[in-house]
Amino acid sequence: LTVLGLETSCDETAASVVRLGPDGATVLSSVIYSQIDEHAAYGGVVPEIAARSHVEMIDTVTRQAMEQSGLDWSELSGVAATAGPGLVGGVMVGLSYGKAVALARDLPLVAINHLEGHAVSARLGAETAYPFLLLLVSGGHCQLLEVRGIGDMSRLGTTIDDAAGEAFDKIAKAMGLGYPGGPALEKLAASGDGSRYDLPRALLGRKDCDFSFSGLKTAASRLAQTCETDQDRADLADAVQKAIARQLMERTERAMKAYLESHPELVAYDAEAGTSKSGQRLFVVAGGVAANKTVRATLQKLATKYGFGFFAPPMAYCTDNAAMIALAGAERLEKGWVSDLDAVARPRWPLDEARATGDPVHK
Ligand code: ATP
Ligand code: MG
Ligand code: FE
Repeated sequence: LTVLGLETSCDETAASVVRLGPDGATVLSSVIYSQIDEHAAYGGVVPEIAARSHVEMIDTVTRQAMEQSGLDWSELSGVAATAGPGLVGGVMVGLSYGKAVALARDLPLVAINHLEGHAVSARLGAETAYPFLLLLVSGGHCQLLEVRGIGDMSRLGTTIDDAAGEAFDKIAKAMGLGYPGGPALEKLAASGDGSRYDLPRALLGRKDCDFSFSGLKTAASRLAQTCETDQDRADLADAVQKAIARQLMERTERAMKAYLESHPELVAYDAEAGTSKSGQRLFVVAGGVAANKTVRATLQKLATKYGFGFFAPPMAYCTDNAAMIALAGAERLEKGWVSDLDAVARPRWPLDEARATGDPVHK
């Protein structure tokens, strides 16, 4: 199966061709046009600018992805387009373009939940078997999910206020770093030592797997006003990064315990074998924040402690891309799940509702 994927839910216009075979996924091309420069002056994504920019770029980006794949349109098995959640003006651009391609080239359309794309993105690198425990940490979401397969996921916990990426972005903004803040804050933290800053820990008494970052955001933003030197700022960045990584680790630990309790049949991951197998303890971290090295290292250590295999997407597929959308589309097509051409764009769309049928986008 070879699928063209389209992604336009935020500030990246992206197209990609992915082939899914018996040995897993191969990315034949992945083109990403980032609008960061267009939004930087505003300190965040401006929906109107984003939608217009997607209109201007989607055709060029798609043609580039087709050209780089070396394939002819006739060699495609389908078109997958993000149908939500996200900025609906942008989602409509990619989804409408995908419908046009499907109609013109006589291909099946698969409407994809953007979060389902993130959920499968680790499978673009090492083959990662189902089922697995997933920590999805992106700009707009922070969730722990049990992933049994494509279109079959349930949520164990979510954030009650901000997402982890949002916390990185907002604190970075308060510290005068650029947008997006996550990468800038990580870079600054490399030369800092956060041990002198005492940041609040959220929801400590609770037993669930929910997250909260608003207290940390308020405290860090206040401390940012007291920073005088570059060293002060680097130290604060290190403290913030560690605090976010620690919370992600603590909630994932609770989720691992609950997951193992409800699935006593799962066996420990065999690191020596080098490949994952269904029935093993497998953990995946995905989304933009999964690009953070401290976050990755912290979670990898935790996974090892509980006998889980640790998987994360290749760096290029942590933040938004169309390869993950193409792969989700290929996995759906493999099951024969196709969407109608009147599939709707959805600004909100919880991942555990992204099933095969019964949903307005899939009918
Ligand atoms: P969603 O997927 O929830 O709709 P999104 O698509 O905007 O949101 P992603 O593209 O997955 O989110 O991720 C972007 C987020 O990841 C931003 O908040 C950004 O700051 C964060 N991020 C990217 N790289 C890093 C990094 N190295 N360290 C920390 N955060 C990072
Ligand atoms: Mg983005
Ligand atoms: Fe995303």
